[in-house]
Amino acid sequence: MASVVRLLPTSEAHDLLELAQELADKELAHKVEDFEARGEFPRDLLRTLGRSGLLGLPYSAEYGGADQPYEVYLQVLEILAAKWAAVAEAISVHTLACYPLHYHGTEEQKRRWLPELLGGELLGAYCLSEPAGGSDAANLTTRAVIEGDKYVINGTKAWITHAGVADFYNVFCRTGGPGASGISCLLTPAGTPGVNPQPREKTMGLRSSPVAQIAFDNAMVDTDRLVGEEGVGFKIAMGALDSGRLGIAACAVGLAQGALDYATAYARERVQFGRSIIEFQGLSFMLADAATQISAARALTLHAARLRDNGLPYSIEAAKAKLFATDMVMKVTTDMVQVLGGAGYVSDHPVERYMREAKVLQIVEGTNQIQRLVIGRSLARGESKD
Ligand SMILES: Cc1cc2nc3c(=O)[nH]c(=O)nc-3n(C[C@H](O)[C@H](O)[C@H](O)COP(=O)(O)OP(=O)(O)OC[C@H]3O[C@@H](n4cnc5c(N)ncnc54)[C@H](O)[C@@H]3O)c2cc1C
Repeated sequence: MASVVRLLPTSEAHDLLELAQELADKELAHKVEDFEARGEFPRDLLRTLGRSGLLGLPYSAEYGGADQPYEVYLQVLEILAAKWAAVAEAISVHTLACYPLHYHGTEEQKRRWLPELLGGELLGAYCLSEPAGGSDAANLTTRAVIEGDKYVINGTKAWITHAGVADFYNVFCRTGGPGASGISCLLTPAGTPGVNPQPREKTMGLRSSPVAQIAFDNAMVDTDRLVGEEGVGFKIAMGALDSGRLGIAACAVGLAQGALDYATAYARERVQFGRSIIEFQGLSFMLADAATQISAARALTLHAARLRDNGLPYSIEAAKAKLFATDMVMKVTTDMVQVLGGAGYVSDHPVERYMREAKVLQIVEGTNQIQRLVIGRSLARGESKD
């Protein structure tokens, strides 16, 4: 990571990235293998990162955030992902979970709940997907009906990151008719009776990140926990995903960089035919291609972030960044296993884990087919000319 030359907007951003690197080296690096092997969620570590200010970076200081531009927040994620992808993903998901309240909550809601969320005392989750509706999220069926001063929620959410460990859930549910316009967002406390996280999924990678279904069985939520108006929930969910996709792209860049750094060090040491294997052009070209692809993905991600930071439309660029960076990390981590030969295939080295971790990034927050669909539709509308 030391070799990455970065253009940063302020000296404060420079300090922040140094802090992230220090935390990555001192708090993450020596824990990751153990936690991943046991599949344990590092809740205390997330609290430590929260107290260091890393859980509310891109949000307003008025509500407990750090007022950092997205380009800075994403580079922090990248640095953490290079050491432990699940921790960076946890911050990305928490940031996604704070979006509805920060951008659509009333002043009173924000003052009441945001400081604890942005300060990292409370951990968030984002509940959009359902067993029958992942890509086609607008057809979700979890329903909330008003009874007195409560919404009563029934239904099942699927694939929820932080299920069972989160303190609050953004539940996107149907309060009106069919389609996108019938969906609302309810900020639901995890301790609400009837909010029942199910047993954890047995995932291919990111094993320290808990993912599970959540069954809602007559869960009662105060009506003042409606975020935005009734019927705008889908718009809120999609807005959050535009930003969230940049977080996933940054995780991909960091994970790929970690894999490249590890494989490069190995290739310099490993001797075959009397020479370091990095001296073989066939191998060094693989590393060179990986380094180039990582730089390209980083540039694309930061370009989209800078558009966002400047108040310009960025959702198509975010889709491109998520698509390119996550396809890139799958290819790069697969190639870095190849660089280690047999040693790459066993858990003595982290590259086999990196490869398993990369896969999910092509799936979450809209699969890469859905990103292509978003980009293709904007081309069909004649919008995307950059
Ligand atoms: C580890 C993990 C964590 C997750 N965390 C969360 C979370 O925190 N919150 C949350 O809400 N969700 C979460 N998800 C869910 C994730 O967003 C969905 O898995 C994803 O959106 C795809 O939905 P699906 O799995 O139902 O696949 P499907 O929608 O059934 O898709 C199956 C395949 O069909 C393709 N496909 C579908 N429609 C089209 C189309 N129109 N054109 C071309 N191809 C298409 C897809 O790309 C995919 O390859 C998580 C998933 C995983 C695996």
